[in-house]
Amino acid sequence: MTRHFNFCAGPAALPTVVLERAQQEMLDYQGHGLSVMEMSHRSSEYVAIAEKAEADLRSLLAVPDNYRILFTQGGATQQFAAVPYNLLGNGGTGNYFETGIWGKKAIKEARHLFGAAHVAASSVDSGNTEIPREEAIQLSEDAAFLHITTNETIGGLAFDYTPCAVRPDGVEIPLVADMSSDILSGPLDVSRYGVIYAGAQKNIGPAGLVLVIVRDDLLDRARSDMPTLFSYRELAEAGSMINTPATYSWYLAGLVFEWLRQDIGGLEAMAAINARKAAKLYATIDASKLFSNPVAERNRSRMNVPFVLADDRLDADFLREADEAGLLNLKGHRSVGGMRASLYNAVPEEAVDALVTFMNDFEQRRG
Ligand code: PMP
Repeated sequence: MTRHFNFCAGPAALPTVVLERAQQEMLDYQGHGLSVMEMSHRSSEYVAIAEKAEADLRSLLAVPDNYRILFTQGGATQQFAAVPYNLLGNGGTGNYFETGIWGKKAIKEARHLFGAAHVAASSVDSGNTEIPREEAIQLSEDAAFLHITTNETIGGLAFDYTPCAVRPDGVEIPLVADMSSDILSGPLDVSRYGVIYAGAQKNIGPAGLVLVIVRDDLLDRARSDMPTLFSYRELAEAGSMINTPATYSWYLAGLVFEWLRQDIGGLEAMAAINARKAAKLYATIDASKLFSNPVAERNRSRMNVPFVLADDRLDADFLREADEAGLLNLKGHRSVGGMRASLYNAVPEEAVDALVTFMNDFEQRRG
């Protein structure tokens, strides 16, 4: 058995020890005589799995008591609709940072459903290579929330600050964050946010699960005309079990949370590893004449590192040789081309070392 180094943007690498544990427990979960996939979500065994996952996540992120944690479905994409449905009950307009493809999709969905979305700050003029500074934020007078994408997975563009969302009339509105590609990559001050959401298939677990962390007082701002499954209040009141949840993904997420707590030693330790991994790769790119990354240094993502080759005729050879060397999924997103190395939590430092060695060697031979 060989496990290659997987730089996929998502679904992404999972920790080998987590997969081994799942393998051990696959046929007979802890003496219950069945697999987790085959359990009723209402059984006491499964409820214990679900509750432990939630408790571990709460502890990892130090989630305050006045926040609910929801384990839902529909991808992060469903949250592009669920957020305005849940927060526009008292009227007003969603305000958005436009910093790349994912932020844009959130804006498009809000416009599609509610006819309006206000762009409070945009990085389009910089070609999405720099996050607008806090002074540049212009909230609309009727702003009901401010939505940001903390890490744009395709552009490799990350916030280096947490914006303060205060309207021209002095009213503070909830900050909503799509953290699909950087949640759990380091410590987080949850209390700065009204809603945090993230699709699971990068730093949390397998696809099919979405995490939502929502402040209690925001459960009362929902529109009345939304699908029940979108409702944060309904989900919170049902313990995320209005209907059958993504049971196996939830279980695996729980194993990932346990790995982060026990094997890694928490999110400070994770952040230090991630910082080292990213620094090694950016240093290689910056020292190279063949590879380049356009993102402003302060906004360079630690999770997704896009880069291009000076001569794009070498792209196909680069990808083929990388694949042969056991370095998988380095092709950039289909909308932008080039390369992208995703360095999520489960991508070990040795993977980055191997990538850097390969890139230096490729440049020497072909650059
Ligand atoms: N937001 C971000 C930042 C993403 O990276 C992605 C997926 N790559 C999405 C939203 C959409 O997620 P999903 O496929 O789970 O709907």
